[in-house]
Formats: sequence, C-alpha cells, structure tokens
Amino acid sequence: MRVVLFDIDGTLVSTGGAGVKAFGEAFKAAFGIPNATEKIKFSGRTDYSLFRELCHWNEVDFSVSNRELFFEHYLHLIDNHLDEGEGGPFPGVLKMLDDLAGLPNAPAIGLLTGNIEEGAKRKLSTYGLWDRFSFGGFANDNEDRNLIAAAAKKKASKYLGCHLEGSEVVVVGDTPKDVACGKYIEARTLAVATGGATLQELEACKPDWAVPNLNHLNVNEILGI
Ligand SMILES: [Mg+2]
Repeated sequence: MRVVLFDIDGTLVSTGGAGVKAFGEAFKAAFGIPNATEKIKFSGRTDYSLFRELCHWNEVDFSVSNRELFFEHYLHLIDNHLDEGEGGPFPGVLKMLDDLAGLPNAPAIGLLTGNIEEGAKRKLSTYGLWDRFSFGGFANDNEDRNLIAAAAKKKASKYLGCHLEGSEVVVVGDTPKDVACGKYIEARTLAVATGGATLQELEACKPDWAVPNLNHLNVNEILGI
C-alpha cells in the first residue's frame, strides 16, 4: 500500500450541511433562482456535475462563465456556514490518519473528492485537517468521479516519483460512487457507512472492506492482505 485516497464529505468530515446550503444560496445569488437544490441528491456527486444538473432543471446555460460566477458565490457563501463548532471529523478518522502517518513505510495520503479544490480546502481547514493531505483529485480535474480518481492516481504517481499500480492504492469513501471510482482505477476500496449510504448498500458494491465507521478497522488489517 503506497497511497491512500480519502473522500471528504461523509468520509472524513461532516460540515453540518454547509456545502449543500451554500450551493442553494449560490444559485440564487448568481441566477436569482431560489430553492434550486431541493430535489437534488448530493452524496457521492461532484461539484461540476451538480452544477450541470441545477442548470438543466432551471434552464440556465451551462457555460464556463456561468460556472465561474456560480462557484465564486459558492466559495463566498460557504464561509458563512462552515463552523468548527458544527460537524467535524467522523469517529476513527484522526486515529487512522495518525496511524497511517506513523507506519514505518508510511503511504502518501491524498484526497479523492467531488469538491472543487478551494471548497475542499475550506471544509478541511475548518477542522484543522487540510495539511494532512499531500495532493488530491478534485472536481476541477473532471466532472466524472471515475476520471477524478484517475487524476488523483496520476498526481500520486507524480508525488511519489514512480509508476503506481492500482493495487498499491486504497480509496476510502462513503458511497457506492466512491467504491465504483476506486474499482475504476483498480484500487482497493474501503467503504465507510458514516455518510451517504448504509452498510448494507456499501457491502452490495463489494468493496474490499466495509465498516460502520473507521474505528472498526486497524491500518494493519489494510496492510495484511
Ligand atoms: Mg462522500
């Protein structure tokens, strides 16, 4: 195991719904359309695909300039909702990050998230976690989560300065989409039921490990197979 890639929302932290609230408010601020996010399911999605869906349902042109306008508002508005007193890391997250960093041949730790990079930074910085990650795949890399996974693997390879086999990577996430994107890059997958899916739903995707929260898995068990 040379690389571990973590999803953010529902896996590392809960932000108390900050991202979802800011998304709705940003659509209103940018295009004057209220309540646009009410019927949208966010978990496991990427920011750019969510924006595309909002544009489709609300007849807004999905253009680069509209996307830039929207995410400018989003980043401004999310700061109003991010609060270190609300939400925070899920059980076992800090211990797993510490245990991974303390291994004799510690793996590189990165992000594999549907957040845009600046949104990811603000969410994780709220809880003092941003500096734990050396690189990441973000929504800026692609709209499709599988291709974000491919981008994250490529960045991991560049960071380590060597070729990387999929089997040397572990992808940690809270939804079937996380498991799917891990399989797409032939990584091992660890599904954790702290976010967007139940343990049964995750087990049905046949990840290498499925746990209620990260306290239920020791890093040695990941190394042991
Ligand atoms: Mg997630």
